[in-house]
Amino acid sequence: MAVDCIVIGTGIIGSFTALALHERGLSVAVADRGGLAPGTSRSSDGNLLSSDKSGGVMLTLSERSLVLWSDFAARHGNHCEYDPKGSTVVARGADQAEALAEHVAGHQTAGVTCEFVDAGWERYEPHLGPDTSAIGHWPRDAQVQPMLACYQIARSLSEANVPYRFYDEITALEPGADAVTVRFANGDTWSAGHVVLATGVWSNELLEPLGLSVPVRPRKGHICVLERGDVEVNSKIADFGYNATAEDTSGDDAAVQTAAIIESTRSGTILCGSSREFAGFDRSVSTDTLRRVMADCIGIVPDLARLRVLRAYAGLRPFSPDGLPIIGPVDPDGRIVVATGHEGAGHGLAPVTGELVADLIAASVTHPYDGALHPERFTV
Ligand SMILES: Cc1cc2nc3c(=O)[nH]c(=O)nc-3n(C[C@H](O)[C@H](O)[C@H](O)COP(=O)(O)OP(=O)(O)OC[C@H]3O[C@@H](n4cnc5c(N)ncnc54)[C@H](O)[C@@H]3O)c2cc1C
Repeated sequence: MAVDCIVIGTGIIGSFTALALHERGLSVAVADRGGLAPGTSRSSDGNLLSSDKSGGVMLTLSERSLVLWSDFAARHGNHCEYDPKGSTVVARGADQAEALAEHVAGHQTAGVTCEFVDAGWERYEPHLGPDTSAIGHWPRDAQVQPMLACYQIARSLSEANVPYRFYDEITALEPGADAVTVRFANGDTWSAGHVVLATGVWSNELLEPLGLSVPVRPRKGHICVLERGDVEVNSKIADFGYNATAEDTSGDDAAVQTAAIIESTRSGTILCGSSREFAGFDRSVSTDTLRRVMADCIGIVPDLARLRVLRAYAGLRPFSPDGLPIIGPVDPDGRIVVATGHEGAGHGLAPVTGELVADLIAASVTHPYDGALHPERFTV
C-alpha cells in the first residue's frame, strides 16, 4: 500500500497527527503494534493545562492547543469527556502564596486568563485543607478522557476509509529515493512519502538501526484511583510544587519526585498523582511511591483520606532533556518526522502537535517554533 503519510503509533500524538494530516487532504495510514493507544496515553491523567507552564514556547503551545481541543469537541462532537472545568493551583504558606501570585501575574501579562485568589477560594474548591494560603485559578484549562479521544479519532478516520492496522509491529524503516518503506513483523510493507514516528518513549527502536536517534527517555509516573465518594473536586487541583516537578529537566536519576495533582472523572472516581522518576522501561507500581503520592494529595485535600483506593497504575512519560517536545524531520531527506518528547503534557499538546506536523508535511512550511522544537537542536 502506498499513501502520502504513514503515522506509527495510535497514542494521543499519533491520533491527532493522523487527524490533522487527513484534514489537510493527505492520504494517511495508521499502525500500532498493540491495540488502540496501548502505550503511555492509556496510563495517565487527562489534564489539558496552561497553569503548570512557566512561560515561553510551552505556554504558547498549550494556549493554542486549548483552543484546538475546544474546536475538536465542537466540530467532531464531544465523545471524549472533554470538559473545560478549569484548574486550581494551591499555595501553602506565605512564601508559596507570593510565588503563586507572581506566577499568575506572569501568565496574565502573557494574555492567559487566570486569577489569584487570596480569600474565599471555597467558591472554587470547598475541600482544600486549612493550611491553604492562596490559590490560582485558570478557568480555561480543561480535562479529557484520552482513550476516548483516541477512539473518537480512530472511529472518525476509519469511517473516512483511513486504514488502521493493529497488533502488528513495525520492525524497520527503509528510506528510499522517493519514499520510505515501512516493514511489518510479518514481512508486509507499506510505503509513503513521509512517515511520522509518534512512538513515544520507544521512538529510538526504529531510528537507531538507521544511525539516527532522539534524546527521549521514559520518565515513570504513578496514579492512584480513588472510589467515588462525597469529596467534591470541581476543577483539576494541584499543589504549586507540582509545576516545579513537571518542568524539572535536571534528569536526576536517583530521586523519585512527587507532588499532588488531583482530578475527578465523569464516573465520579478521583485520580491522584503524581510521581516522576527515571526507572528505565519498568512500569511496575511501587507501594512506597503510592504512599507518598497519597500523602501529598491528602495534604492539600484532607477529605480524600476518607476514600478507598480502587486501583493504581504507572506509565512512562516521554521526557525530553530541555522540557520541550521534539517535532520535526530526523533524516537527511526530511521524510521521517518524529513527534515525541511531550513528557507530562502530551494530551494537552496533542492537537497543536498535529497542527505543526501537518504544517511541516502537508504545507511544507516551517512552523514558528521550528528552531525550538526541531530534533536537530540536540546535535548542534
Ligand atoms: C502518570 C502520568 C500522568 C500523565 N498526565 C498527563 C496529563 O494530565 N496531561 C497531559 O497532557 N499528559 C499527561 N501525561 C503525559 C501523556 O500521557 C504523554 O505525554 C502522552 O500520552 C504521550 O503520547 P504519545 O502518543 O507520544 O505516546 P504513546 O501513547 O506511548 O504512544 C506511542 C505508541 O507507539 C506505538 N509504537 C511504538 N513503537 C512501535 C512500533 N515499532 N510499531 C508499531 N507501533 C509502535 C506504541 O504501541 C504506542 O501506542 C501523563 C503521563 C503519565 C505517565
